[in-house]
Amino acid sequence: MKYKQLIFDPEKKDRLKDFDPAYCGDYKDKDDAQDDLKKGVKKLSELQEKLYASDRHALLIIFQAMDAAGKDGTIKHVMSGVNPQGCQVKSFKVPSAEEMDHDYLWRCNKALPERGNIGIFNRSYYEEVLVVRVHENYLLDEKVPQLEKKLKDGKIWKERYTQINHYERYLTENGTRVLKFFLNVSKEEQKQRFLDRLNDPSKNWKFSLRDCKERQYWNEYMRAYEEMLIHTSTREAPWFVIPADHKWFMRAAVCQIIVDQLNAMGLKFPVLSTEMQAELEEAKKMLNAE
Ligand code: AMP
Ligand code: MG
Repeated sequence: MKYKQLIFDPEKKDRLKDFDPAYCGDYKDKDDAQDDLKKGVKKLSELQEKLYASDRHALLIIFQAMDAAGKDGTIKHVMSGVNPQGCQVKSFKVPSAEEMDHDYLWRCNKALPERGNIGIFNRSYYEEVLVVRVHENYLLDEKVPQLEKKLKDGKIWKERYTQINHYERYLTENGTRVLKFFLNVSKEEQKQRFLDRLNDPSKNWKFSLRDCKERQYWNEYMRAYEEMLIHTSTREAPWFVIPADHKWFMRAAVCQIIVDQLNAMGLKFPVLSTEMQAELEEAKKMLNAE
């Protein structure tokens, strides 16, 4: 699958409206994509073992999306072959009182993957320029210094984009690769999925009236997403805008991008030192002599 066109490139003056949520690439049908996903899941499992064994880098995968775009399902399917020991998932909800008492990166920083691991953020610090941008009153609880002034001249958002870019560069330079997926669902498809959740008793638990209310701010959210993409899609940590109206395409695309990222990291199983090799020989002798 070619996915270069899924990378949001601010230098090419990319705009969100030019990304089609229903795009299916070259796939003829669902089965085609599911075959690829199956192969991808297997490769991902092999690469993850290498990542773990080499213990030098971490991979942080960030998912952002409107409700019902398929974050949870994508995480479940794409990571289905990965050893749970080398993978950690963290979902970020409305911040707690304790979290509010810290800077906004604090809770995310605590959840970063350790070397050798894949960490998944189901939502992330990007909520701070998305839901918080759509509902500026949330900022009042965050105790940001000089907030009134920063809101007046709109500086707060530029400041946050810069902080996030610096943070991601810092992570990259220190061995954590940052991979960012925006699952781009259309407004119509979101409505269908909400209705499914309402009509299918086995999906009722997924429904929340809050999600329906947030939908009323669709245009505001799209503006916030576009601004986020323009200001935080960088060379070291670009945003992938994944078409999300067809779940099978979304899953296959995300899986392949992760596999390619891990491949590009040039992971290798550690080579044993001569001392270690001598130890292995000694152990073999001991066991054989029993
Ligand atoms: P869900 O992922 O469906 O469990 O919903 C989590 C909710 O928490 C979403 O509505 C998010 O917008 C909200 N949320 C996550 N992070 C923040 C944040 N930093 N400030 C305010 N709301 C947030
Ligand atoms: Mg939800």
